[in-house]
Amino acid sequence: MPEKTVFAKIIAGQIPAQIVHRDDRVTAFRDINPQAPTHILIVPNEPLSGAGDLTDSHGPLLVAMFAVARKLAAAEGIAESGYRLVINEGGHGGQTVFHLHMHLLGGRQMTWPPG
Ligand code: AMP
Repeated sequence: MPEKTVFAKIIAGQIPAQIVHRDDRVTAFRDINPQAPTHILIVPNEPLSGAGDLTDSHGPLLVAMFAVARKLAAAEGIAESGYRLVINEGGHGGQTVFHLHMHLLGGRQMTWPPG
């Protein structure tokens, strides 16, 4: 068995996190090093390594992740002002935790291009 990622440990309740959503498919918690006033990670409970692991069968999971993002954006009061959803994939993508996750960032003006 590969070593559990920090996110798998959070989902399993083995290490603490500020969890803001949990259901049978998806867990969401606040990023430990926030890059915006709202910075939440939306994580499938299933330990996919990243976007490269996704297949056609993950359609419902992706819809669930986006639905959680929409719900949390409303709860955080950033639905109207706008927000950014980001998935970093692999080394050049800037991925550091190899358990698929979507960043929900908001509460300030985002810039483009990313660094
Ligand atoms: P990425 O670079 O896309 O893989 O993003 C990984 C994110 O996980 C970073 O924004 C980290 O700040 C965040 N992170 C790492 N460890 C934890 C943790 N224990 N709890 C919450 N967020 C974490």
